[in-house]
Amino acid sequence: MASYSAAPRVNRIEREPRIQMNGSIPQADSASERASLKEHFELNTEVASNGSNCPACHSTAGLVVQYIDLTSQHRRYSEDAALQCQLTALAGVPNHMVEMVQCDLCGLEFAKPLRAPGAAWYGLVYETLDLYPAKRWEFEFVLKTLAPSETLGELGCGSGEFLRLCQQAGVSASGVDFSQQAVDSCCRAGLIAKQIDLKSDTVAFPGGMHPEVIVAFQVLEHLECPRTLFTCARHWASPQGRLWIAVPSNRRPSRCLHERDFLDEPPHHMTRWTESALIRIAEGTGWQCRRVIYEPIDWSTQLWWISTRSSVYKLLQDAGLLTNRWLERLVRAALAPSAWVRSVPHRSSISGQTMLAEYVRTDTHIAS
Ligand SMILES: [Zn+2]
Repeated sequence: MASYSAAPRVNRIEREPRIQMNGSIPQADSASERASLKEHFELNTEVASNGSNCPACHSTAGLVVQYIDLTSQHRRYSEDAALQCQLTALAGVPNHMVEMVQCDLCGLEFAKPLRAPGAAWYGLVYETLDLYPAKRWEFEFVLKTLAPSETLGELGCGSGEFLRLCQQAGVSASGVDFSQQAVDSCCRAGLIAKQIDLKSDTVAFPGGMHPEVIVAFQVLEHLECPRTLFTCARHWASPQGRLWIAVPSNRRPSRCLHERDFLDEPPHHMTRWTESALIRIAEGTGWQCRRVIYEPIDWSTQLWWISTRSSVYKLLQDAGLLTNRWLERLVRAALAPSAWVRSVPHRSSISGQTMLAEYVRTDTHIAS
């Protein structure tokens, strides 16, 4: 039987500030919302102790580290109350409450229930927020490892930003995505893409090809069955295939500073990965993790994070004194020396936004 324990870390929700897309810190939740969370915590202690296995390593030991009320969560996606209700309904979670469980063995944090929203929820979210950046560190990193003679397949290709870079570099590339809208966008741009849902590995890759390199950038954390990505990739890859998986870094600034980021929580992200979890999940899938690389973070970005979290900065921001861009810069410059000192404990642990794992195929038996 599973043995998740529900430690009273629900208080963390009250303690930690919430960061919006623009980096500002919104108002704290209402007292009634906090009371509702506490009540839910008490009611679900027993349920939490009968949780499911870790999707990465199958361990049954873990800890409930966070409670998320989807009705309040969706207020951060849009100010439109009707849209908020629609998103909550489309998420399809009973009682609109999700627990985040941290695996004792590999450190993976995963949603319980582990139920990812469907294409309708994503369609609405992507109409509301701009979440497809044209540039990513992992694009450039992986691109440099490719030879023009290699073929590449991308799982979760979105609107084709990386496929376009491959095309420009002379690499033969095609992609799949579960959004028909995204696939249509790729095809209109002259890229090769096909709509599939990563729930089965029986579907053929576009053109029946078996790519030498398979990539999945910022996809794994959205899946309710992340292991399927590995079995699909194994099914599709050539015998000498390599696999690159990029996920949000467990050393990204928001996590190092213990801040909440609503886009790094369910229903958007169903899992939060560690190096150990990225290694363990590949076991028995025919892949072996060769290395995990962290996106670098430069000095000025580190100082920006530390400065803008200082009490002085927050005080001035709350008073509305930092709306002038030049004044805001001046304040940050004045805070830089103390930020430099306070950044010391984070220097060895903090990274950029992404961590990237490389896998190679193995000839070992593939577990069912
Ligand atoms: Zn685990």
